[in-house]
Amino acid sequence: MAPLRILISNDDGVFADGIRALAGAAAAAGHQVTVVCPDRERSATGHGLTLQTPIRAEKADSLFDAGITAWACSGTPADCMKLALFELMDEKPDLVLSGINHGPNLGTDVFCSGTVAAAMEGTLEGLPSMAISSACFQWRDFQGAAALAVEVATAALKDQWPENLLLNLNVPPCRPEVMGPLRWTRLSIRRYDEQFSPRKDPRGRTYYWLAGEVVEDLESGGDGPRDWPTDVAQIEANSPSLTPIQPELFWRGPLGGLPRLDLGGQRVR
Ligand code: MN
Repeated sequence: MAPLRILISNDDGVFADGIRALAGAAAAAGHQVTVVCPDRERSATGHGLTLQTPIRAEKADSLFDAGITAWACSGTPADCMKLALFELMDEKPDLVLSGINHGPNLGTDVFCSGTVAAAMEGTLEGLPSMAISSACFQWRDFQGAAALAVEVATAALKDQWPENLLLNLNVPPCRPEVMGPLRWTRLSIRRYDEQFSPRKDPRGRTYYWLAGEVVEDLESGGDGPRDWPTDVAQIEANSPSLTPIQPELFWRGPLGGLPRLDLGGQRVR
């Protein structure tokens, strides 16, 4: 395969081991790698954009393997992607990779994930884009996940990568030799118990830490192949999970399932 122009971002920031492993694996495979990522931890900032303050970007090549062009940006993951695509890069990339996130992005986590949002920016620009997450916050060996990510992305590019398809890859925290096979998975529904821990600051004022915990993983009610496992079940089986996601949020249930809206005697059609 001819060398690809690959744009890489993340939400854990420029000093995270996950993005260094991913960029290194892509460059070692012979690709031309540009990193544009936040200059600090930006996890769970979702698709937020910075509109009230300027965005600064500093060269950060020295943090990465030789040959990789890198920028550390003061904005969010979505800011980084926009800046990369519309300002910093001379040409649009062939592929966008986001990660490797330190921690899972499973089921409805994708709504607050900065990792997935960065990849979604690529998808919205019509670029083949993949988010990659290591499904454990403590696991620190990203080499296996990085190699798998490059392998999966290049295989998808060789066949067909339809428009509006975001690939969400989660890799279980284990050594490659004990890992199960990669499978397509459905997006599950995760419910969190959103607990706030109130504390007092040194001036006696109350502040809060959000400390949500997953309480339930529900089967997705949406459509999709029923014989595919959910992403959560696949990771629990110590196997990598690949979930196809699209930006289209439009309701896919039966039209009869929508509320009847009689407004002032007139029925909304
Ligand atoms: Mn993160």
